[in-house]
Amino acid sequence: MIHGPCGEINMNSPCMIDAKCSKRYPRALISDTIAGNDGYPLYRRRSFENNGKTAIIRVLNQNIEVDNRWVLPYSPILSKVFQAHINVEYCNSVKSIKYICKYVNKGSDMAVFRVDGENRNDDITQHQMGRYISSNEAVWRIFSFPLHERHLVVVHLAVHLENGQRVYFTTETVQQRAAQPPATTLTAVFQLCEIDTFARNFIYVDIPQYYTWNSSSKKFQRCKQGTPVDGHPGIFQTDVYGTSQQC
Ligand SMILES: [Zn+2]
Repeated sequence: MIHGPCGEINMNSPCMIDAKCSKRYPRALISDTIAGNDGYPLYRRRSFENNGKTAIIRVLNQNIEVDNRWVLPYSPILSKVFQAHINVEYCNSVKSIKYICKYVNKGSDMAVFRVDGENRNDDITQHQMGRYISSNEAVWRIFSFPLHERHLVVVHLAVHLENGQRVYFTTETVQQRAAQPPATTLTAVFQLCEIDTFARNFIYVDIPQYYTWNSSSKKFQRCKQGTPVDGHPGIFQTDVYGTSQQC
């Protein structure tokens, strides 16, 4: 697990950007592992004087002696099991969570070339270029894996004075809307408590734990799944979170 070597030994190494190693090799020799400023540890890299080993490797038909400054962090057991070069780093910062999620999903690079036609404002081509799907995403979609999910469910609850809710209407619906304004989550809870004594046990924001808001019928309905509530057969509690919203 030796990086490069790059730099003066091989200026054409793929890691070289602007005549510098983009992977920051060779690293400094250091007698003990310490936590670096950016959350990444600085691993122990023993010098020759400090019992560090060196090795001769062949680069560009030259024998080069490398020391611990060139060693990539690795796990011998993983390298052996997978018969591959595997870079293993200790992760302990919050940043590493973002890194892992991004890294496994980032997909492969896109390379495109074409002979340009006369029409440079080609909307179709521009759309197709923006619609690049990597092999990762293609497989993800073929298996119908979820593209997005959220937890907990947060239900926004309307808060308003009596007859103070916002009502949307058109010239055609104005009379009907004025006579029968659609229920809000607040008016629906009052209606619910008239017919459902169990609902009277709760304050407004706790109602979504036991009742699902049906936005088409504008009614709260008892949750059909969740944790059964002791002493109330057929009633389930969920972790839906109600939050009030001025409207
Ligand atoms: Zn390098």
